[in-house]
Amino acid sequence: MRPEVMDFESYTPGLTIEQIKERYGLDQVIKLASNENPLGASPVVQKVIERHAASVFRYPQNHSPRLVAELSRHLGVDESHIVVGNGSDEIIDMLIRMKCRPGMDNILCYSNSFSMYKLTARLCGVEYREVPRGDDLALPLDALAEAVDEKTAMVFVTSPDNPTGLAASVEDLSVLAGVLPENCLLVVDEAYIDFVWPPESYTPMQAYDKFSNLVVLRTFSKAYGLAGMRLGYGVMPASIADYLKRARLPFTVNLLAEEAGIAALNDEEFYHATLDAVMRGRDYLRDELEKLGCEVVPSQANFLMFTPPAPAQKLFKELLKKGVIVRPLASFGLGRSIRVNVGTESENKAFIQAMAEVLNNE
Ligand code: PMP
Repeated sequence: MRPEVMDFESYTPGLTIEQIKERYGLDQVIKLASNENPLGASPVVQKVIERHAASVFRYPQNHSPRLVAELSRHLGVDESHIVVGNGSDEIIDMLIRMKCRPGMDNILCYSNSFSMYKLTARLCGVEYREVPRGDDLALPLDALAEAVDEKTAMVFVTSPDNPTGLAASVEDLSVLAGVLPENCLLVVDEAYIDFVWPPESYTPMQAYDKFSNLVVLRTFSKAYGLAGMRLGYGVMPASIADYLKRARLPFTVNLLAEEAGIAALNDEEFYHATLDAVMRGRDYLRDELEKLGCEVVPSQANFLMFTPPAPAQKLFKELLKKGVIVRPLASFGLGRSIRVNVGTESENKAFIQAMAEVLNNE
């Protein structure tokens, strides 16, 4: 095995609902830890998946051309710029493997960010560098621009950011894309872009063909409720899309995922109901957490990061015993804070009730 593999500590997802039920002897568990869709999976999309179940003995079409055509129509982006993947994680993996030279290039991001960039870089033998955030946790775009050197192959910005929920403006992202050296990609990971308002103030997607170094990543795992199908995509310069499609493994987006993606894009009712539930739930959670003495970061995503008036790890464990799973942020280097995603109205209420009980016992 390569040394990078022998040293590797893989991404560790939190415990599942079943594991928590068994460990704590609980009948009911509320999971607000993985930023999934509060409304579950769209009933329309579920029916489409059932309808196509009989076709799964066939291979899917490579590169999912029908889904790419639908995305093209939906986004107003030429098909040659779109690559779909097995979750946006696969696009991150493809970009790093195909663009960065092991032992030579480096990747740049900021501290306390989504772990997949660092993990994939490490596995590929590519140096991963971080610039610190300011005290207010804002995305340090100027510091990223300053830290770039001639070996920086890629700069990652998550916007809205995970775990803070803070978003960068389209102007600031365009400035950053413009000052990077020609051969350095700006990868804007927009897993949570559906939840910002107004979207055109935040996403540089509209100018996708004006930059030769801009990659925008999106996912069906959040607003479209398809985390378990594993489906994401990237919009990028056509030449880069072409390299990725040439060198990738065939068929990583399965037949059901392609059908589900097409149906999800056309199920506007579910999409808008999701946005409505998330935006209302986000306001409610923010108000209630502040009433409980928590410091809450103003989020534009489907989750909130907060610092409670009690030790975060202990609070996390006490909430687990009450059947509520949230995400402690020690693995992000933010040991005093917790991330909670917006659930259904009753899940949000149950979470706040559990928080109040635990904090009252402190
Ligand atoms: N980027 C960010 C910032 C995320 O939070 C996530 C999901 N945890 C992903 C990418 C991965 O999304 P997908 O399910 O499409 O692989």
